[in-house]
Amino acid sequence: MKEAAQMVRSLEQFIGGRFQAPASGQYLVNLAPATGKPLSQVPRGGGEDVNAAVSAAQEAFDGPWRQWSVEQRAALLDRIADSLQQRADDLAALESADTGKPLALAAKIDIPRAVANFRFFATAVRQFGSDCFPMEGALNYTHRSALGPVALISPWNLPLYLLSWKVAPALAMGNTVVAKPSEMTPMTADALASVFEAADAPPGIFNLIHGLGGEAGQALVEHPDIKAVSFTGGTATGSRVAATAAPQFKKLSLELGGKNPTLVFADCDFEATVNGAVRAAFTNQGQICLCGSRLLVEASLYPRFVEAFVAKVKQLKLGDPEHPETQLGALISAEHREKVESYLALARQEGGEILCGGQRPTLPEPWDQGFFLQPTVIAGLSPSCRTATEEIFGPVVSLHPFETEEEALAIANGVPYGLSASLWTGDVTRAHRLSQALECGLVWVNTWLLRDLRVPFGGVKASGVGREGGRYSLEFFSESKNVCIQWNPNPASPKASS
Ligand code: NAD
Repeated sequence: MKEAAQMVRSLEQFIGGRFQAPASGQYLVNLAPATGKPLSQVPRGGGEDVNAAVSAAQEAFDGPWRQWSVEQRAALLDRIADSLQQRADDLAALESADTGKPLALAAKIDIPRAVANFRFFATAVRQFGSDCFPMEGALNYTHRSALGPVALISPWNLPLYLLSWKVAPALAMGNTVVAKPSEMTPMTADALASVFEAADAPPGIFNLIHGLGGEAGQALVEHPDIKAVSFTGGTATGSRVAATAAPQFKKLSLELGGKNPTLVFADCDFEATVNGAVRAAFTNQGQICLCGSRLLVEASLYPRFVEAFVAKVKQLKLGDPEHPETQLGALISAEHREKVESYLALARQEGGEILCGGQRPTLPEPWDQGFFLQPTVIAGLSPSCRTATEEIFGPVVSLHPFETEEEALAIANGVPYGLSASLWTGDVTRAHRLSQALECGLVWVNTWLLRDLRVPFGGVKASGVGREGGRYSLEFFSESKNVCIQWNPNPASPKASS
């Protein structure tokens, strides 16, 4: 393993506009999930690298960047989008190799979305206005200013997609950033750093620190000059990040885990619902925070639905991520697959029946060493058992029949998480009623993961705090200041002077 690792590419930190080795001189081995073979060596960053990156970000913030106009910043974002677009094929290949996801998925979703994030926020910041509150004889307006150096911490499931979702609005508002991608998926973050280098972006506005979460990530959140932390990842990590950042009163955005319900009513469009529920459960091997991992089905439809759903899941094509027809690739790591499998063992103990999947597939070389797992459907579990309430984050879905809308709602809301829900029904009144009652940040009706980048994105309960997207991101990455100007000291209304 060590010899092989020495033959693969070594990544570097990107600090102050320069690629450089980590101060520790140490590297982590990054494996390709689909083959289990080394893909790259990742710098093991720590406090020293973080200090250098935050200093570079602070220096850049205090430099000419601060004078850049909105139009100049937006034009830079557009140039980054152009450059990502030009490299789209290479980036999709890197993302697929790094995550084990199908190349077709990376090419269709991950990379186009990263391009779109830069383009979207370039436009959004050009259109961004501020509030104005006129009084009798006076005028209030809200001035929004950049915060300074901000920390952007992202997970492994949608690496460039989620990193760019943070970098673009942070820079749009004039901040400087220190990004910490997941140590398991560093490749496209590294490519993004080269894009910034090639775009002649002011040195230090975008810094990249690789390393372990508990080391580089922790040091970054702790750093006193970091003014805000935008974190996407697991709920337990989010709680630790919050505990570290809160005593320093840093602005915090936490996008955390989910255990999202898909609610299916007997009056749904059957074909569309089966297809939608399969997509919601298994896209990206079930490793999307928004995946519908609990499938609640009205009892009168349950037998017919289960039969059609399982038949469809059995047809999903799993294996070589580069094959154009592959629908499911590998899980992110051997450890993560073991974690998912431990939930399958737990499901059996909890009385679940595995209707399909549950095994590692038999694949030819080199995929036989990859971290694949069949898409798995479980029935017969109590909706309140651990398997049905804890986030598994893999290709596993549990099926639960319900009799009434009230019961469906109670099951849907009966978990610690509250990120999203998808609701399949032909009854528009029910769709509105349930959408209001579901405890979550996003509801999809007769669809799943249909995204408009302007809408507020985020969860409630253990799924996080705060909203990102559109103006919500631009507001998060800036501080508001009210300016009150009195233009008439003797207004007609006595209220105005109080
Ligand atoms: P994770 O929490 O293990 O890691 C996320 C990031 O945090 C990584 O970059 C990691 O290195 C870093 N990190 C770890 N410990 C840290 C610490 N003490 N201080 C600072 N940073 C630290 O999550 P993961 O396994 O990479 O991602 C999967 C999780 O992310 C799932 O729970 C999933 O639901 C969640 N997720 C949520 C959203 C959302 O928008 N709500 C989107 C994608 C993924």
